[in-house]
Amino acid sequence: MSPKTIYVTEAAMPPLEDFIPYLQQIWSTKILTNGGPFHQQLEAALCAHLNVNHICLFANATIALVTALQAMRISGEVITTPYSFVATAHSLLWNGIKPVFVDISPDTLNINPDKIESAITPQTTAIMPVHCYGHPCDVDAIQKIADIYNLKVIYDAAHAFGVTTETGSILNHGDLSVLSFHATKVFNTFEGGAIVCPDAKIKQRIDNLKNFGIVSQVKVVAPGINGKMSEINAAFGMLQLKGIKNALQRRREIDAIYREQLAQVRGIRCLEHSSEKEANYSYFPILVGSEYPLRRDALFEKLADAGIHARRYFYPLITEFPMYRSLPSAAPSNLPVAIKAANEVLCMPIYPDLSRSELQKIINVIRESI
Ligand SMILES: *Cc1c(COP(=O)(O)O)cnc(C)c1O
Repeated sequence: MSPKTIYVTEAAMPPLEDFIPYLQQIWSTKILTNGGPFHQQLEAALCAHLNVNHICLFANATIALVTALQAMRISGEVITTPYSFVATAHSLLWNGIKPVFVDISPDTLNINPDKIESAITPQTTAIMPVHCYGHPCDVDAIQKIADIYNLKVIYDAAHAFGVTTETGSILNHGDLSVLSFHATKVFNTFEGGAIVCPDAKIKQRIDNLKNFGIVSQVKVVAPGINGKMSEINAAFGMLQLKGIKNALQRRREIDAIYREQLAQVRGIRCLEHSSEKEANYSYFPILVGSEYPLRRDALFEKLADAGIHARRYFYPLITEFPMYRSLPSAAPSNLPVAIKAANEVLCMPIYPDLSRSELQKIINVIRESI
């Protein structure tokens, strides 16, 4: 039997029989969506688990990002990072907003706060940073700039489920934070997402916006969208939440083994966790530097030949795509750190069911080039 193909991630799936009682409940109540009992339970459970005030569940994070911008009435220009999944910038274009890209910090690969101020114009209304790989942005520096220039801050926190720092949940920073529960993320509901918001009034506005702008049977107050999460997805979220602690523990172990075994490999840099307090180990990015015998793409191919499918998150940069590349801020000369990272990064497989022998096989492929 040939060994199984190893992907960068694999969803943690609870035993199928554990999901049956949830399905039975949906079948018996016949409530399928529109803020049903599982939707309510999951919102409450996530508020408690994540230590946040309010959560609005969504069908996916992209619609949540689009809605978050609407809820904050963002327009004009928004400062963001090119080093992310393309949905970050797409959410701006869907709102007719012009993205303004600034470079990232070499240590975290998150937006570099020192570069934000010079990108602000009279049209700037907000900053949209990303907690890339779940590593916290410099939230204090970003907020300081936002306060001075009266800008909103909306975090794309798609990678940051459960991440905390000394001051608590990373999701409690800025005006809103958006989570993704896509199948490839640490906590998944097949498809899904959420907006984390600080107060009940904004939650109400977001809840209206995700339900067509409807506030009552006869009243529609905004041109809303359908962003609702269904009962099946919410029920699966409730079940997933039971296993999240074990899943994170397993991810933490894998993260530690990679770090230990790759520490001595010249030219391979593992991105540091800024806070070991509560990372979520959602990704394991390595940077393949010039001292390593192979370029990143050659290592990528070599791994693929061995049945190991690492991913080049985030290559190409968002600014390489045709709808962005002609923007002045997308010029390569504006983004040297992001370009270097995009050319060196490789996200290695990390997920709870990755076996010790599979992990060793991956590490051996990286090490045998030296
Ligand atoms: C996954 C992801 C999204 C989009 O999430 P969906 O739930 O798939 O819409 C947005 N931003 C980042 C950074 C992501 O990784």
